[in-house]
Amino acid sequence: MLQTESQKVIDFQSLKDNIGRFNLSRSNKTILIPEMNRIGSHMLAATFRGFGIQSVVMDTFKGLELGKAYTSGKECYPCQITIGDILYYLKQEQKRLGDRFNANTYIYFMPEAGGPCRFGMYNKYQRIVLDSFPDLRAVKIGSLTTTDGYSLNGMVDDMQASNLRKAGYLSVVVSDILDRLLWRIRPYEKEKGMADDFIETSMREMEKCFETYGVCKQFDKILDVLERIIQKSKAIMDPEVPEKPLIGVVGEIYLRSHVHANQNLLRVLENHGAEIVNASIAEWVNFTTYERLRDAKTGLRFSLKQFRINDIKDHLKNMVHFAGDLLYQQAKQGQVYKRVKSILNLEKDHKIKELENVLKKNNLFSFDVGTEACLSIAGIWQYAKDGFNGVVNVYPFTCMPSTITSAVIKPLMNDLGVPYLDTPYDSSFQPGREAAIRTFMYQAYQHFNRNGRQQHH
Ligand code: SF4
Repeated sequence: MLQTESQKVIDFQSLKDNIGRFNLSRSNKTILIPEMNRIGSHMLAATFRGFGIQSVVMDTFKGLELGKAYTSGKECYPCQITIGDILYYLKQEQKRLGDRFNANTYIYFMPEAGGPCRFGMYNKYQRIVLDSFPDLRAVKIGSLTTTDGYSLNGMVDDMQASNLRKAGYLSVVVSDILDRLLWRIRPYEKEKGMADDFIETSMREMEKCFETYGVCKQFDKILDVLERIIQKSKAIMDPEVPEKPLIGVVGEIYLRSHVHANQNLLRVLENHGAEIVNASIAEWVNFTTYERLRDAKTGLRFSLKQFRINDIKDHLKNMVHFAGDLLYQQAKQGQVYKRVKSILNLEKDHKIKELENVLKKNNLFSFDVGTEACLSIAGIWQYAKDGFNGVVNVYPFTCMPSTITSAVIKPLMNDLGVPYLDTPYDSSFQPGREAAIRTFMYQAYQHFNRNGRQQHH
């Protein structure tokens, strides 16, 4: 049983000592990975295992009641879900292992952002919750942060850090592609369930690939298997099923990726006749690298004005570092998409620079403000201009960046005549949700019948 102390004093030292980057190589610890997007989490865990780091993906959403019990209701919905996931997992482990349970052998993996919204504080809050259970205090929170572009320095040996980062990034891109493949083939499947079964089997196959080939950087072998999967998937599609309206999905990364949290929104849209393209996870990773490069450029401008030599050197060093990372990521992503698109036309990703240009050119928003709103506003605008038949913004109730997105983009979508739907979620079920989705899809069909649709590019 989990036990909590009745009187809790926040241990600030624990926030320093028990959150951060802990060396994972040569340790006997198990990394606990939360399941945000299912395929991505499993692929990342497999990549870690390939590098000799024990890692498991925790079941998700089974501990929601625990998550609600240990939050006040003011936190964002993903925070409640993830707290529930970790408490549920550890509780199960305590049951399974009894006296052999040792909290010291687990590292809970929870990336963070430097703000400006509440994401910057999730792992601190989760630390306070874990510390309130005497028998869970030794569970560390391993954290990567956007403030250094998710660097792995200090978590694995220097020699391995760069290879793990590269293999990890490829696992993100490949997971995006498997997700996009599912949304591409499922609306046209010959028999119900074929696409889901196929993607599940393919995910397992790709997991093995990452576990085997990731560590030795044999990325071509991984991509050969991916190509074969894409080729095979074509047989699932029924050529007799007519083309459907194309719907773009954007929003907060956790909600748009987590099928339980968004109450299976993508499938519901498909049931009402949509073909979906959801924003990718790699887009967010590229964005965080792009932002760090941007910060370094801004810092350089200021330090040049003030003629601070040491600062100039630091900013230049950062610029070279993040420019190199971004170049690598976008080149790798482009290369993978090129290979798969020669077999099946999946939608490619926007380049972050192009999204910033869209915002500037149309005077919509500024990257200076930051947050996912930069990606969502520009992404929605681009979908509309590219001939998508409708766009859905999915996010946790009260999410700051997504609420900004909605406020900026809604009137513009009206002017452009493209159907648009906001779908905020918490753990409650909205009675009007189905009607709102039906109405949206009716409008999307009208748009589709009038304008046809964009072909994937
Ligand atoms: S992005 Fe939205 S949901 Fe996530 S922490 Fe920030 S405000 Fe909360």
